[in-house]
Amino acid sequence: MSDFWSSRTKKLEPYIPGEQPKDGSVFIKINTNECPYPPSPKVAEVIKNFSCDSLRLYPNPEAYDAKKTIADYYGLKIDEVFLGNGSDEVLAMAFAAFYDNEKTVNFADVTYSFYPVYCNMFDISFNYIPLLEDFSYDVEGFIKTVGGVVIANPNAPTSVAISLLDIERIVKNHKNDVVIIDEAYVDFGAESAIQLISKYDNLLIVQTMSKSRALAGMRIGFALGNKKLIEGMDRVKNSINSYTLDRLAIAVACAAIEDEEYFKEITGKIIKTREKTISSLKKLDFIILISSANFLFITNKNFEAKEFFEYLRKNGILVRYFNKPRLCDYLRVSIGTDEEMDVFIKITEAYCNEKF
Ligand SMILES: *Cc1c(COP(=O)(O)O)cnc(C)c1O
Repeated sequence: MSDFWSSRTKKLEPYIPGEQPKDGSVFIKINTNECPYPPSPKVAEVIKNFSCDSLRLYPNPEAYDAKKTIADYYGLKIDEVFLGNGSDEVLAMAFAAFYDNEKTVNFADVTYSFYPVYCNMFDISFNYIPLLEDFSYDVEGFIKTVGGVVIANPNAPTSVAISLLDIERIVKNHKNDVVIIDEAYVDFGAESAIQLISKYDNLLIVQTMSKSRALAGMRIGFALGNKKLIEGMDRVKNSINSYTLDRLAIAVACAAIEDEEYFKEITGKIIKTREKTISSLKKLDFIILISSANFLFITNKNFEAKEFFEYLRKNGILVRYFNKPRLCDYLRVSIGTDEEMDVFIKITEAYCNEKF
């Protein structure tokens, strides 16, 4: 605490991002759901040929080229797309645009932990709809509750998806409030709700290029929805920062979306490695939630998650442990390359052998 801080700053409870180790002791980093493969070669080409001189000039405030490319790709209109510096920023602006003290928002007790942070920041009242015992969404609970809804599909950190049918039932029952579907991991096996946008003016989809397009370091996120929703978000954006995407990010975003073949190749590889990792872990007595994401949420009745986490870390493997109710028996493991996951399994085997 400092007397220099505003009362707003004093009451913040910021999000804690996953560790980005600097000390070289980590050999396998599978803790923040990054892509183990490089971005598309078309992205590399854009960066190589990028005009440094163009950086004298501000970028287009709408990130027009990227907007157009994304709109064309998803069969939407340009005014149905919003771009931001990573989807964390897009989500923050959406929370500020659509919820407040009276417009309550509902989300799961176990979900992306940034949501309550935004509520705190923008003075938004929120309500938890706890996940069911098996970590699936309480669809009936979401249908019955009043106010806005935010759902990560698949959910984080559980990796569990919700069906398009259930999403539609929720959206239909909240006609006067905005329903946000955070599809950060949707490309790894869940059903996107983008096709519902033309039918429901209260539905906002948020996606990111950080995971399935291997661009976490470039910070590109976007929202898709009815143009009235996008207009609301533009009002917020233009009250904070008009240029959320820089010139290089705009060019990179276009190249990444246009290289469909590479996108399919790397997401397909990650899904294959995921299934292989699941079967190896099952042989070691792990319980694994059904994953539609590029990570697994795993537990093992034979030992403590925290101790296993520390053992992995000592052996140069970094995964994510959450010291929180409902989560503290689990570890979240991102899917790396086949080689990385082979090492992870080998060290896990050694640990299991040590325990028995
Ligand atoms: C990673 C993640 C994001 C944010 O990603 P950005 O890198 O900010 O685009 C948003 N939602 C969920 C659920 C995530 O896991």
